[in-house]
Amino acid sequence: MPMRVFSVVLLLCAAIFCSAQSPSPSGVPKEIPSFDVTAIDKSIEPCVDFYQYACGNWMKHNPVPPDKSRWGRFDELAEHNLYILRDILNHAQAPGKHTAPEKMVGEFYGACMDESTIEKKGTAPLTPELAAINGVNTKADVIKQVAAMHQSGKPALFAFYGQPDMHDSNATIAYLDQGGLTLPDRDYYIKDDAKSAETRQKYLEHMQKMFELAGDKPDVAAAEAKTVLAVETGLATASMDRTLRRDPKTRDHKTTVTEIAAAAPNFDLTEYFASNGSPKFTALNVGNPDFFKQVNSQLDAVSVADWKTYLRWKTINSEAPTLTKAFVEEDFLFNGKYMSGQQEMEPRWKRCVKATDQSLGMALGQLYVDRTFGTAGKERTLTMVKAIESAMKQDINQLTWMSDTTKKQAYVKLNTIVNNIGYPDQWRDYSSVTITSDDYSGNTARAGAFEVKRQYAKIDKPTDRKDWSMTPPTVNAYYRPPMNDINFPAGILQPPFYGKMMDDAVNYGAIGVVIGHELTHGFDDQGRKYDAQGNFQDWWTPADGKEFEKRADCTASEYSSFVAVKDDKGEVKLNGKLTLGENTADNGGLKLAYMALTEIIGNTPVKPIDGYTPQQRFFLAYGQIWCQNVTDQEARKRVLTDPHSPGRWRVNGAVQNSAAFQQTFGCKAGQPMVSENACRVW
Ligand SMILES: [Zn+2]
Repeated sequence: MPMRVFSVVLLLCAAIFCSAQSPSPSGVPKEIPSFDVTAIDKSIEPCVDFYQYACGNWMKHNPVPPDKSRWGRFDELAEHNLYILRDILNHAQAPGKHTAPEKMVGEFYGACMDESTIEKKGTAPLTPELAAINGVNTKADVIKQVAAMHQSGKPALFAFYGQPDMHDSNATIAYLDQGGLTLPDRDYYIKDDAKSAETRQKYLEHMQKMFELAGDKPDVAAAEAKTVLAVETGLATASMDRTLRRDPKTRDHKTTVTEIAAAAPNFDLTEYFASNGSPKFTALNVGNPDFFKQVNSQLDAVSVADWKTYLRWKTINSEAPTLTKAFVEEDFLFNGKYMSGQQEMEPRWKRCVKATDQSLGMALGQLYVDRTFGTAGKERTLTMVKAIESAMKQDINQLTWMSDTTKKQAYVKLNTIVNNIGYPDQWRDYSSVTITSDDYSGNTARAGAFEVKRQYAKIDKPTDRKDWSMTPPTVNAYYRPPMNDINFPAGILQPPFYGKMMDDAVNYGAIGVVIGHELTHGFDDQGRKYDAQGNFQDWWTPADGKEFEKRADCTASEYSSFVAVKDDKGEVKLNGKLTLGENTADNGGLKLAYMALTEIIGNTPVKPIDGYTPQQRFFLAYGQIWCQNVTDQEARKRVLTDPHSPGRWRVNGAVQNSAAFQQTFGCKAGQPMVSENACRVW
């Protein structure tokens, strides 16, 4: 989902951001305001450019901080959470009595912060794995090494995981899929424009430096970098485009171990499955069978020596953030600075808080929830969720293009949606993971292996619908088609998304639209293809399906006309097909939350607050959660990889299609915020 706003506190915040941002003794900054009048740019008409109106002053006063590549209201809240988490971790590290989760996260964080021990160890943490790769002699050994790397959570060559069966969501089965790339998308390897060629050149230089840091001579390292790029280009060519993969049909290939092993014999898949630590199984889904068929010949054509170089790279690259300063800096220079336009690395403590969340997120999350959320937060959110679900029922009921037959099925799906709020019912037990105070790299590897083992254990078992995909402090939310559930981690259930003291208009414009957004995902171009039980099964009449597609095509071409980046390298437009699901969810979410708010406030005249009516406050609150600034580099990367539109279009795209918005602000036909051809799916 994601991104942001602020006002007096924001301006203040921005000014002192790099030094303190810590009005309280614990260092935790003040709460972020939910609605910010000072963010508004009154020099522009809301009907001309609503995003500029809602966010103009905020954007002016909140440039991207040097340690970020994007700075929006979501990021502001995520940053706020980092301070809270640091406080929790400092406390967990302090002498005294601590619970098991406290002890564990405290030691993990402490080991990450202990840079002098990390420096002393140098490249030692890499040694065992690089030695194992060095011992690879045959193609079969290559695959065995891939299995070992997967077991410790290091990506290489292809992907393997457990996920609900697309046709029987109650059963979790094994999945095999394309993978093995390092750059964020296949296009970086394949496109022949000047910018892509430049990126590949920079990538080569980066790999060379990393190989040198691992101990290789410059000329050897340069040759190794070229080898890796060639191997990964082969994998990229065999990979399916991410826009095409949005259609579940392209990923639906249930088969048997015998069949896929025979179709791509050079992968030695039977051996791979036997040695990767997963339970024994006979049936699985292969996301992209063509990838395995194509790479099958690459496995033969590329020498064992070159595969070893590729595996060395995947190991070094994966471990770099846990190694010495030299590795961490080189990793940042390429991935942070060059790829995303981030000027400086985040301070060590922020990276270590994030690393703890990534490795032991449910233990840290438990402490975070105890400190911030409580049971009242769950109740309040649930009330809003119910109100918005009831708005969706009403919305479906009013549709003129959908038959009663399909509507009936849509209600069934809507009524079946499971609402998960705040945090899981059961906390994860990490007691089998060894965490020590002087081994950051080892801690990360063991926590990674624990997670892989936990995921593999789900294979050929009834689906665990209670397991969360995000940690509680995360500022985000998600819908899962196979589970048919909407999920709101505690991290997002606070200002600016939800303010206890705020009027309904603001809360519905912010977290209300987020709830509506996630709900709509169950009915977007992807979600609509799954039924109430989470099975990939068409529940639409053919005529209604066509009507849906017509409306979705309207949204796709509308957003394809929006400019995402315009810099000295030229102009890039949004990919309306890649972002279709998110744009559908934004438009639907805005509509549903507005309906729910109308239901609450009715026609009773409500006194304006800050000079705005509740309806105006609703749309402004929506606009302001997406206030953001972003570097050109980050914006370019996101056009290729992010299914979400940038903040400007999340706001202006949705309001242009909204009659309620136009009525609220008195917009006239011909004005930019009144689409000539308004698209509406839900
Ligand atoms: Zn979304």
